Amino acid sequence: MSLGQYLKAWQQAVGDLLFPPRCSLCNAGGPETRDGLCGDCERKVVVTGSPCCAICGCDFPDPAADDHICGECLRTPPAFSIARSLVYYNEPVRQLLHNLKYNFDTTTISPLLKIARGCDFSHFESADYFLPVPLHSTRLRKRGVNHAQTIAQLLFPKRKKQILVDTLVKQRNTPSQTSLDRAGRRVNLRAAFSVKYPEIIRNKKICLVDDVYTTGATVGECAKAIQRAGAAEVMVLIFARVRRGVSKKN
Ligand SMILES: [Zn+2]
Ligand SMILES: [Zn+2]
Repeated sequence: MSLGQYLKAWQQAVGDLLFPPRCSLCNAGGPETRDGLCGDCERKVVVTGSPCCAICGCDFPDPAADDHICGECLRTPPAFSIARSLVYYNEPVRQLLHNLKYNFDTTTISPLLKIARGCDFSHFESADYFLPVPLHSTRLRKRGVNHAQTIAQLLFPKRKKQILVDTLVKQRNTPSQTSLDRAGRRVNLRAAFSVKYPEIIRNKKICLVDDVYTTGATVGECAKAIQRAGAAEVMVLIFARVRRGVSKKN
């Protein structure tokens, strides 16, 4: 251990003694609690992986299957080349993302970062620009912050200048998607998104960023708008995805 590392560890130990770290979700303390997340909460996080659809990343129930293209992507090829999520949308991720989205609770940032550090999303570093899925201006005024932008900044802290927040816009305020099925969601979002400055993204590789992937309708519509604006490729990176056959409310 170098002197610098030793001093840092010592500082941490003294800090922990004075202000014992607490889990931002269950308030548990103890030696495993770091970055606002205790060991018990962290162990509940399920990282996504194979077997999954080579395009949309949906999970396949047979653990022995290889990655292949799912029926939905074969029937209706999406406008994005690849969509991947870091983790599944269950606790504690569901609560963290909810608190970030609706309360802009900044104590969620450290645990979300901690979870992201355990995932490999280096594939998406090759993007020229990162576009958070936008909120309609009315909803943005109400919430104050676009949570997808926060997630993009959290995942790509060294690429802040490439995170474009006013290029992709939601021009139509759409009703909530929660009670709609896949087809209903698509209709609800039709022509909802547009690209304000197409010249910026023309022939560029774009990474769309959002918090939760349910049916892919939102990122699918965003990707169409970006493709129409002349992007070379659209990739999609989502923090969490709802497992197939599992309701978002679970
Ligand atoms: Zn906890
Ligand atoms: Zn698929």
